[in-house]
Amino acid sequence: MTDQTSHFDIVIIGSGPAAFTAAIYTARGGVPTALFGGVAPGGQLLQTMEIENFPGFPEPVAGADLMQNMLKQAARLGTRVFSEEIAAVDFTRHPFSLTAGGGGAYTAGAVIIATGAQARWLGLPSERKFVGKGVSGCATCDGFFFRGRPVCVVGGGDSAAEDALFLTKFASKVYMVHRRDELRAIFRLREKLKANPKIEIIYGHVLEEITGDAKVTGVNLRNVKTGEARHIEVPGVFIAIGHDPATQLFRDKLNLDDEGYIVADCFTATSVYGVFAAGDVMDPHYKQAVVAAGNGCKAAMEALGYLEEIKA
Ligand code: NAP
Repeated sequence: MTDQTSHFDIVIIGSGPAAFTAAIYTARGGVPTALFGGVAPGGQLLQTMEIENFPGFPEPVAGADLMQNMLKQAARLGTRVFSEEIAAVDFTRHPFSLTAGGGGAYTAGAVIIATGAQARWLGLPSERKFVGKGVSGCATCDGFFFRGRPVCVVGGGDSAAEDALFLTKFASKVYMVHRRDELRAIFRLREKLKANPKIEIIYGHVLEEITGDAKVTGVNLRNVKTGEARHIEVPGVFIAIGHDPATQLFRDKLNLDDEGYIVADCFTATSVYGVFAAGDVMDPHYKQAVVAAGNGCKAAMEALGYLEEIKA
């Protein structure tokens, strides 16, 4: 074990609703808690324009504001919040060892993993070539750059719908390209899309190539039924096709399912005794902030119980 100051009874990895809720509970439980949240704490909600379905807010709340409040609440209750990521973990010995991106070494009695999920990419060579030159995975971050110009959003879920709606604040027109004939997005968002004259949904098409020279100039689409090609001139392309769990760090250390999610039971316990998981990193189904927060609470209570158990 390294020196005293680097040991925390509980280390939480992540900085979304699951991570901060866990921290609120463990710090409030009087247990020394460190949270490693990376350089931009907040998780996916930082990219969510308005949240209408988190209880306690009669009016929509900006994702960034909600996360900032959670961070302040966790810190006020005594959580040490580190603006660093954890780069390596060793769960084979107890206390568990963790190494931060800056090289700092830490040990923990219990670990709560709440690293969430990352935006998925199409995997096209042209997509990679133009990232930051017209291709983006974050409408809230980059929408502003396309003021008065047309853009394209790829995807048919809630994220794509939200991105398309958000982009109408800036763009002259938003093409939403979806591979099927019906959207996956919830009814309320579908209704908003329908009502927005700036949005054109192109159903049954896939994006085959992003064209351009130094910057994006357009997209080549293909009709999945007829095979017909279509080109649209747009300087901006937003990819919103879902998320993958952020579990690279835990491969070969914890049991993961076929899609890479951490396998955790209904008490948030992972395959390693003393390591718990909460939020989108272990939830392939709901992926909701409020569910993640609830899971964070469960993980905290289980981690506190585990520490009592090993002390006895
Ligand atoms: P999602 O629900 O998994 O939707 C992904 C969309 O991208 C689907 O329409 C899918 O098409 C499409 N897609 C996936 N891979 C593709 C590919 N390779 N090429 C073309 N299209 C592809 O992901 P999400 O929209 O990010 O939402 C994830 C979760 O977060 C959901 O549970 C959602 O409810 C939640 N969420 C909630 C809110 C909110 O409450 N305000 C906001 C954002 C997200 P198919 O439909 O054909 O599968």
